[in-house]
Amino acid sequence: MKCPSCSADNKDTALHCKKCGGSLIVMWSPSIQWHARTLGVIIAGLVVFYFLANWMLKPYLREIPPEVTPWLKKSQNIHQ
Ligand SMILES: [Zn+2]
Repeated sequence: MKCPSCSADNKDTALHCKKCGGSLIVMWSPSIQWHARTLGVIIAGLVVFYFLANWMLKPYLREIPPEVTPWLKKSQNIHQ
């Protein structure tokens, strides 16, 4: 890898430049775009996972009995 300060060639495993002695460890600082993209990927993954889990668990989920939600039954009666 090349030294960021003097652009001398160094071994990839070297931690310090052999010419100027500067550190070759470059701190990784992600940009706003990287954060936005990563968040987008995570949110998209969660949404996909939600629908996938919903679809896979559909046979195991049972409907809420009408006794538990009488307000839903009432609204149905109004419409009829
Ligand atoms: Zn250097």
